Amino acid sequence: MIPFLELTSQFRAIEPEVRAAIDRVLARGWYVLGEEVEAFEAAFARYLGVEHAVGVGSGTDAIQLALIAAGIQPGDDVITAANTCVPTVAGIAAAGARPVLVDADPDTLTMDTASIAGAITPRTRAVVPVHLYGHPCDMEPIMRLAKDRGLRVVEDCAQAHGATYRGGRCGTFGHAAAFSFYPSKNLGAYGDGGAVATSERAIAERVRRLRSYGQTDRYRSELQGVNSRLDEIQAAILSAKLPHLDAWIEARRRLARAYDDLLDEAGVRLPHEADWAESAWHLYVIRTKRRDALRAHLENEGIGTQIHYPIPVHLQPAYEGLGYPEGAFPVAEAACREVLSLPLYPELDSSAVDEVAKAIGAFRR
Ligand SMILES: *Cc1c(COP(=O)(O)O)cnc(C)c1O
Repeated sequence: MIPFLELTSQFRAIEPEVRAAIDRVLARGWYVLGEEVEAFEAAFARYLGVEHAVGVGSGTDAIQLALIAAGIQPGDDVITAANTCVPTVAGIAAAGARPVLVDADPDTLTMDTASIAGAITPRTRAVVPVHLYGHPCDMEPIMRLAKDRGLRVVEDCAQAHGATYRGGRCGTFGHAAAFSFYPSKNLGAYGDGGAVATSERAIAERVRRLRSYGQTDRYRSELQGVNSRLDEIQAAILSAKLPHLDAWIEARRRLARAYDDLLDEAGVRLPHEADWAESAWHLYVIRTKRRDALRAHLENEGIGTQIHYPIPVHLQPAYEGLGYPEGAFPVAEAACREVLSLPLYPELDSSAVDEVAKAIGAFRR
């Protein structure tokens, strides 16, 4: 049996560090917004190469709070990708804005930068590029357009911890970036968590207030905020895990290369890494017209797979109100029918990759 993902081997590998981190918090008896959160925020900002990181309750909240802190108001339009994970648009909607969607680039399946200009309306105030599967969006044209048209850019980095674009880390290009520490992400907590990264002091300060009832000081609220805080135990765990992140991404990359080699002739479309990108390989996503049959075949062989994602945002019942018909985003819609994510995590054995590739090869015959 090869599961799509399992998180216990990683825990076993770093168990003493994690237990020491949790014990430190329990012994101190301070659980929300304390020195562990501050220490992780500083370490994560240093890792990325930004001035500030602010821990919040989830990646979805990070998108919402980053947009509000960047000045997005209810009724504004925010452009994002049709083939993203639903929380991207949930975060935009929670900020009071209207998600406006664009199609995907057929090679990388990240947002098609050439479509953004045509999606701008008089109410457009921001763009949320999604570094889908850990592959960076083409940030240069996005930032150029944003500068010309006075738009704010909040990168959705929930799948892109450690990815680089033209040598710079994802999360350092926009005015702010949203990270998720959901357990399955490249840097995962043992519960929910997220962060806003930014080099704009005003955005960081506003997120710090917004995450805790809008308070500047205790019991004095200057903004209408929410309750969305990274807790001390999760922050301590993340501080223990962060020093391993680059090695974990390297392991993901090695496994992705192995899949590339082994599946070269397997009759499926392999993920494309653009010249200017180093993917963080959050997911290894192949494409085939016979996706559902291949998935069933692999399941029979005891191999777990997932579909990221089966329904594009504009065809989700919850977002019918956005008014996009079927056929509005053909690349995203085709992707939803064809994509299949193979097992990929740092602790996966290379012999498992061999087996998955062999099973895919056998399906073809
Ligand atoms: C996971 C994810 C999110 C949401 O993060 P949560 O921490 O689960 O709220 C947002 N965008 C993308 C692309 C994601 O993969």
